[in-house]
Amino acid sequence: MIILVVEDEKKISSFIKRALEMEKFTVELASSGEEALEKMEINDYDLIILDVMLPSIDGFEVCQKLRQMKIDTPLIMLTAKTQVADRIKGLDAGADDYLTKPFSIAELLARVRSLLRRGKKVITAKLKILNLSLDPKSHEVRRGKNNLALTAKEYKILDFLMRRQGEVCTRNMIGEHTWGYNFNPLSNVIDAHLSNLRKKIDGQNKIKLIETVRGNGYKIKNIKF
Ligand code: CA
Repeated sequence: MIILVVEDEKKISSFIKRALEMEKFTVELASSGEEALEKMEINDYDLIILDVMLPSIDGFEVCQKLRQMKIDTPLIMLTAKTQVADRIKGLDAGADDYLTKPFSIAELLARVRSLLRRGKKVITAKLKILNLSLDPKSHEVRRGKNNLALTAKEYKILDFLMRRQGEVCTRNMIGEHTWGYNFNPLSNVIDAHLSNLRKKIDGQNKIKLIETVRGNGYKIKNIKF
């Protein structure tokens, strides 16, 4: 189980990290909202502990962006504010639970266990772009009437691109997401997979959805009809 802790105060984040590691969790740290979003985009965490008070983008915004990207990882928000309005704001932004600072580590651990017991929410909503659809439940991918047979890696790449429609996904992002940190960025494995994926997705279709961003990576075009 990997937990991401997002907190700019080093003392607090390392304290939480130690406590979680004693419970046999693997912990990664992010000290800003930007860093957190970058990590969340690339890695699949089992749970996120997110402090509201962060420099530049705050926890509410991080949470909102995360949910917009359809990343449904269970999330506990840490807030120094006790006002009901802030708690509501957090839950509205997509947090699953919140804890008011100062909190006891025992309570945090209890919340973590309880949220993990509820299980990772499986994102079951179908992704759809024009006539291309991907069903996370059945792993069925269709373009128009055609059912497309993708390899496991191709499926993972397509899922990644579709959730980030209109955004450039660099080879590094795609590589780390699909192959993990062992991925060698100098190999042409991504281009080879993308080329196959493209044949299957766009092949005979007039409207090409996958676009190469020269020198950078790939994206799914932001077309809406
Ligand atoms: Ca903070």
